[in-house]
Amino acid sequence: MSEVNASFSELPLSPAMLTILQQLEYLTMTPIQAASLPIALAGYDLIAQAKTGSGKTAAFGLALLNKLNPKSFAVQAMVLCPTRELADQVTQEIRRLARFEDNIKVLPLCGGSAMRNQITSLENGVHIVVGTPGRIMDHMERGTIKLDGLQTLVLDEADRMLDMGFHDDIAYVAKRCPKERQTLLFSATYPEGIAQLAKQFLRNPQEVKLLEQHAGSKIRQRFYEIKHEDRLQAVAMLLKHYRPVSTLAFCNTKQQCRDLLNVLRHEGIQALTLNGDLEQRERDQVLIQFANRSVSVLVATDVAARGLDIAQLEAVINVDVTPDPEIHIHRIGRTGRGDEDGWALSLCSTADKRRVAAIATAMNCAVTWDDLGKLQNDDKSPLVPPMSTLQILGGRKEKIRPGDILGALTGEAGFAREQIGKITVTDQSSYVAVARNIARDAIKKLSAGKVKGKTVKVRAL
Ligand code: ADP
Ligand code: MG
Repeated sequence: MSEVNASFSELPLSPAMLTILQQLEYLTMTPIQAASLPIALAGYDLIAQAKTGSGKTAAFGLALLNKLNPKSFAVQAMVLCPTRELADQVTQEIRRLARFEDNIKVLPLCGGSAMRNQITSLENGVHIVVGTPGRIMDHMERGTIKLDGLQTLVLDEADRMLDMGFHDDIAYVAKRCPKERQTLLFSATYPEGIAQLAKQFLRNPQEVKLLEQHAGSKIRQRFYEIKHEDRLQAVAMLLKHYRPVSTLAFCNTKQQCRDLLNVLRHEGIQALTLNGDLEQRERDQVLIQFANRSVSVLVATDVAARGLDIAQLEAVINVDVTPDPEIHIHRIGRTGRGDEDGWALSLCSTADKRRVAAIATAMNCAVTWDDLGKLQNDDKSPLVPPMSTLQILGGRKEKIRPGDILGALTGEAGFAREQIGKITVTDQSSYVAVARNIARDAIKKLSAGKVKGKTVKVRAL
């Protein structure tokens, strides 16, 4: 592993870019950035593997921005992402980094947005596009995107794109990109399909892999032996004992997700699930409510949770132990970020014990078994999330910004800044987390008052 405290100033980046990084408070490179940036900036093709939240976006973002010519209004870089949500996140991060120059245009190209608007933006000139393979293919078929000037192709979350069946779409797009280009492939895991993909579309790629072997530092890992039939009830027991504000619970199947959701709701615990059957808007709402701490538990399969980056996560519960140690390490690495401690709690039946042995070997740690029977639930009060989400009908289309909502709540309505949590504005709706005990009052006052000079409809989600 490269030096942990490496500074960006060691890289061949412009002074303007270094200033932006400082403004963003990116003071040192993350390990994957330190390992991959020298290679990517030197122009090599690259396969980079590191867990979610490790800073991969800036790793490829800096590489593609560094060789961009802002004066030439041609698509010079293209990033393929598995979902609209991830494409939006990547777009935002690249836009932040692109502020070292005036007027670099970054355009998201995903399904769910009007084709016509995208075509107009492309006609007006764009430097970087970030999108899902399907929509980019659409534009290629219609001839509304020109790629003659493309220098960099990025496959982000390549493992997830393969999981979602995008192989042929990626191939379609990659084959129609100029041969003389740099291709960067980023992935959280390294399944067989990635090597195949790389062989097809990368040229002599350099490889950088950062397996989080040291996940132990801030993550306290506990294994509980349980009878298989007690598994779901055991999740409720763990939650009532540890009382984490936000927990991500991993199941191996969708059916198990549904079953767990029922058990938790029956226990009075607020839980939601993410799965592929949700419409995009429903998925957005689930993520918003979980990230703003108005839902205690998010239940998901590995596929559904891939790429999720949630800043504060007190616990990860493995409802089932996964057979793949790499996936286990990846799952639990989502807690214990930054200065926070995190719990990684795993439930194992006798049949799972072999899997735990494999994990212990991969992580080079000893496993200590804990006993569910010893958990004391001294605190009998219900586990209630601290926040509650209000939905305001009206969003970006109505030119509503987070500041307008914060202003309405802390101004006329008279709430304190501390009572207001995360504010998320989407095209049609805005969502604001407020302290649970003021939710009703906040709805009343928001409905009676004005946001951005207009009366708005507000409801609790
Ligand atoms: P990944 O794609 O690996 O899941 P992201 O690129 O989404 O990770 O980055 C995760 C978070 O880390 C983002 O909020 C990003 O702004 C932040 N970040 C990235 N690089 C740095 C850095 N060098 N220093 C501090 N924060 C960083
Ligand atoms: Mg990413």
